Amino acid sequence: MGERRIEAALQEATDTQDVNLGAGALASLPGVFREGFGDCPAIVVADRITFEVAGKEVQRRLERAGHTMIEPYVFPAEPPLYAEYSNIEKLRDSLREHDAIPVAVGSGTINDIVKRTAHECERPYMCVGTAASMDGYTAFGASIEKDGLKQTLSCPAPRAVVADLEVLKHAPEDMTASGYADLLGKVTSGADWLIADALEVEMIDPTGWSLVQDNLRGWTDSPAELRPGNQKATERLMEGLIMSGLGMQSYQSSRTASGAEHQFSHLWEMEGLGHGEGHAGSPLSHGFKVGVATVAIAALYELILERDLGDLDIETLRDSWPTREELARSVRAQHTNPDLEEGAVEQTLAKYISAGELAQRLELLRDVWSGLREKVRVQLMPAEQVREMLQAAGCPTGPIEIGLRWDDFEATYSRARTIRKRYTGLDLAFETGILKECVGELFAPDGFWGRAAASHASADGTRVAGSFRRSGEA
Ligand SMILES: [Zn+2]
Repeated sequence: MGERRIEAALQEATDTQDVNLGAGALASLPGVFREGFGDCPAIVVADRITFEVAGKEVQRRLERAGHTMIEPYVFPAEPPLYAEYSNIEKLRDSLREHDAIPVAVGSGTINDIVKRTAHECERPYMCVGTAASMDGYTAFGASIEKDGLKQTLSCPAPRAVVADLEVLKHAPEDMTASGYADLLGKVTSGADWLIADALEVEMIDPTGWSLVQDNLRGWTDSPAELRPGNQKATERLMEGLIMSGLGMQSYQSSRTASGAEHQFSHLWEMEGLGHGEGHAGSPLSHGFKVGVATVAIAALYELILERDLGDLDIETLRDSWPTREELARSVRAQHTNPDLEEGAVEQTLAKYISAGELAQRLELLRDVWSGLREKVRVQLMPAEQVREMLQAAGCPTGPIEIGLRWDDFEATYSRARTIRKRYTGLDLAFETGILKECVGELFAPDGFWGRAAASHASADGTRVAGSFRRSGEA
């Protein structure tokens, strides 16, 4: 079934022609390579760990099948490889010495580095995934730190992806858990798109929507089976992650797979959270940030949906709506990092509407609210359920576990909205004037986060709280 879904999705993809996910899929590698690149020479690019895990095997199989192989490019294991631009420059200098097709063997970081480097060398590439850890395998663009800022650099997705379940199911638990959280985030990102669609900000693209959302519940319904490396559960997760990447490829935007929960995660990343000093000495994963943020957004949505946004005092909201200048000022006041501040002002103003336009949007909201509220309810799940599912998969579920202070976490609710022009539930709450009030409720003693903070504080004295916590941070 999964295979057929991926086959069908490939028809919609612009870059990726072949995906082979299955037990023993590495055996298909020489054929997949020949199909995609003919008789071109190949070069395996890996890090020390992924080279041991699968790179050697990839090298052997391609050699045995008679492909011309260039000496593998292997990044050292220490310090842990980071997706920063200097690594792209190093690899690029090396790749320019020949014309071999890079075969990236690894997960997020290796894939991102090779994806962008291959593009800069004007070469296609293929990827052999070693962990079900994020949805970037089949996505275009690479998330790279350049000039001190994490950015998405444009570049096509791989021409082919091979993912062997025998390898994936033995990946470190944390990596699989991270992939699970990245996938579960599609629950809230879907709600965001429903809202943007209903308010005529960004219409839903049926194909991009279906690829990611149609089977989301099936891919995410057995988190506890991932930890022991259950092959079926790992396959479902990886299928979801691959489909999610293909969804972004087909719609040519990450809208299909990323909403407010990713804005939280990107903001934390830009602010340097868990940078190189996360748990077990490796950087805090993308998925772990997205997971905590997904709980946060689900909790906010619960409060939004309790309200009747079809019955707003539109006139009062229009009269108190900020001008462009006032909004820019308030965005500046919320950021401390000057690089971030400029970008945030630009992104926020890109989605700015005038007071008159706000009134029109709120009138539209009045007309569509009852239907929209129902659709969003069906799309979402309760925050407590999201939290339990993440916990079952072995993910952190609260700010302290990822090294974030409660007050920074609370501030994220208003700050995250400013860093991306993409319209989400955060914008809906802001424009209807309820964002502050909802956040206040979440962090009140009997609110979703207030209760979590209290139980955390009472447990703190008796045990080391949060195994994911950054050292030295209380
Ligand atoms: Zn993601």
